[in-house]
Amino acid sequence: MTGEPQDDCLFCKIVAGQIPATIVRETDTTVAFRDINPQAPTHVLVIPKAHHVDAAALATAAPELAADVLRETQVIADEEKLDSYRIVFNTGSGAGQTVWHAHAHVLGGRGLQWPPG
Ligand code: AMP
Ligand code: ZN
Repeated sequence: MTGEPQDDCLFCKIVAGQIPATIVRETDTTVAFRDINPQAPTHVLVIPKAHHVDAAALATAAPELAADVLRETQVIADEEKLDSYRIVFNTGSGAGQTVWHAHAHVLGGRGLQWPPG
C-alpha cells in the first residue's frame, strides 16, 4: 500500500537504517543522503520516509509530504552553498528511474546544461 514501508525497497531500507548511507539531513518526514554515484560535486537525494513510487504518486497521496521534500531541497542547497541547483525527479525507466521510491535529486556545484540529456 502506498505510504507503507516495502520490504524490497532500497530507500525504505535506508530510512530504516538497514542499509548504510551518508545522511546529510533528516526531518520528521524526510531523509537526505549523498548519491552513491554522484553526477555533480553536490548530488544529494531527498526522499520522503514514507514509500511512494514516484513524485506524482507522492503528490497525489500526500501533498504536504511532497512539499516537505521540495522545501528540503532548498535547505540542502543552502547548506551546500549552491547559488543555483537543479531538482530532478526521474519518472519511469525510460527517463532513468531505477528506484521506485520517490526521490528528488539535488544537483549543483558545476555548470548544468539546459536542455538536459
Ligand atoms: P533514479 O535513477 O532517478 O531512480 O535514482 C536513483 C539514484 O539512487 C541513482 O542516482 C543511484 O546512484 C542512487 N543510489 C542507488 N543506491 C544507492 C545507495 N545505496 N545509496 C545512495 N544512493 C544510491
Ligand atoms: Zn520505499
